Amino acid sequence: MKSPFNPFEMAQAQFDKAADVLGLDTATRELLRFPLREYHIAIPVRMDDGTVKVFRGFRIQHSDARGPCKGGIRFHPHETADTVRALAMWMTWKCAVVDIPLGGGKGGVICDPHHLSAREQEGICRGWIRQVAKNVGPVNDVPAPDVMTTPQHMLWMLDEFEVINGGKYPGFITGKPVGSGGSLGRTEATGYGVVYTIREALKLMGIDIKTTKASVQGFGNVSQYAIRLFQQLGGKVVCVSSWDQGDQVSYSFRKLTGVDVDELLAITDRFGGIDKSKVTGLGYEVLPGGAWIEQDVEILIPAALENQVTGETVLKIKPSVKVIAEGANGPTTPEADKVIQERGIYVIPDFLANAGGVTCSYFEQVQCNMNFFWEKDEVLQKLDTKMTSAFHAVAELAKKRDLYMRDAAYVIAVSRVAKACKDRGWA
Ligand code: NAD
Repeated sequence: MKSPFNPFEMAQAQFDKAADVLGLDTATRELLRFPLREYHIAIPVRMDDGTVKVFRGFRIQHSDARGPCKGGIRFHPHETADTVRALAMWMTWKCAVVDIPLGGGKGGVICDPHHLSAREQEGICRGWIRQVAKNVGPVNDVPAPDVMTTPQHMLWMLDEFEVINGGKYPGFITGKPVGSGGSLGRTEATGYGVVYTIREALKLMGIDIKTTKASVQGFGNVSQYAIRLFQQLGGKVVCVSSWDQGDQVSYSFRKLTGVDVDELLAITDRFGGIDKSKVTGLGYEVLPGGAWIEQDVEILIPAALENQVTGETVLKIKPSVKVIAEGANGPTTPEADKVIQERGIYVIPDFLANAGGVTCSYFEQVQCNMNFFWEKDEVLQKLDTKMTSAFHAVAELAKKRDLYMRDAAYVIAVSRVAKACKDRGWA
C-alpha cells in the first residue's frame, strides 16, 4: 500500500539532495534534517456553550543559526506535527534565500475557525501564547499569521505576550494590523513577491508578460494580490479555484476575458471561498476544483495548500505552460517535480516565490524596532529589490551549475545556514 503523503519526509528529501550537492558533513546534516526544538501544547478554552474544549497546538523551531526563528501560526483542522516540521524547515530556507537575518519556525493549532466564534478564537490565541511564552519572543522566535489566521489573531497574541512580560514588545509578532505596529504593504507582500519573481523569470525567458495568461489555485491573500499585480503588469488571469465550505470540495472558476478580483471579492467569504451560486451571472464557468491545472495558459500559480501538484495532476498540465510559480508552501510532490523538471518547465520554488511575506515581516520588525514606519511605496520598493536580487542569485546559480531552479535555491539557502552553523562552532 502506498504510504500517505508526508510533507516532512518531502522536506527532508529536498534537504538531502542539497546536502549531497554541497557535500555537507554528517554533523551539519544531522543538525539541519530535524528541528532544533519542538513544543507540543494543550490549550484549554472555555467555549460559548460553557464547556471546556482542549485544542492541540505546536510551535516547532527548526533553526536559529542565522537569527531568531520566524514563521506563521496556522489554524487548520488537519494540522499535524509533521506538516508544521516541514513548514518550519522551509522557513529556514526561505529566510536564508532572501538573505534576511532570521531562522525558521512554524506553529499550528488543530482547529477549524469556520466553527468557532471570535471569542473562542481569542481564547485559542491567548492560550497558545500562555503555553509557549517562555520560548518565543522578539529575540528568539517571532510568529506571524498564516493559513486561517489574521492580523486580529496576532494582536490578541501580542497583547497576551505583553501582559505576561509586563512591557511593550511590538517586534515579538508580525502581521499586526496597520496602526498597531503592522507594516503597510504586508497584505500585498506575498502575492506581489510571487509576481516580482514571475516578471523576472519571463524577462530571462524573453517572454513579454503582456502576452501571457495565468491560472491560479486559491483565492486567499496570496492569490488575490498575485492576480492584481499580474494583471496590472498586463498579464491575464483566466482561472481561479477555491474551497467551498458548504460542499466540502473545491471549484475552479474560468473567465477567458480575465477574472476580476473586485467582483469576485464581493462574493467571497472571509476564508477565500468564492460563492459558486453567484459566479455564473458574472460570466464565469464553474468547473471541477482540479480544472485550474489543466488550463491553456503560460503560467500556473498554485496558491492554496501543499500537495496539490501530484504525480497524477502533473500529467494534466498543458504544453503551453512555461512557468510554475509556487505561491503556496509545498504544493508540488517530488514525483510531480521530476515530471516538471523533465518537461523543462521553469519552476520558481515556493520558498523563493512566496518569500515576500516574510521579507515584509522582517521590514515590520525593523520598523517596530526603530519606531518609525515607512510609506507603502517605500516598503514595496524595498520588497521588489530584495525579491528581484534573490531571484537572480538563484537563476544565475542554476545557469552556472546547470541546476534545476529548486535545487539551486536549496543550494544557496542550505549553504548559508550551514555556514552560520559552522561559524558558530555548532558543526
Ligand atoms: P488563505 O487562507 O488566505 O487562502 C487560501 C485559499 O485557498 C482560499 O481561497 C481557499 O478557498 C483556497 N483553498 C483551500 N483549499 C483549496 C483546494 N483544495 N482547492 C482550491 N482552493 C483551495 O491563505 P493564503 O494566506 O493565501 O496562503 C495560501 C498558501 O500560501 C499557503 O500554502 C500558505 O502557507 C502560503 N503562504 C502564505 C503567505 C502569506 O503571507 N499569506 C506567505 C507565504 C506562504
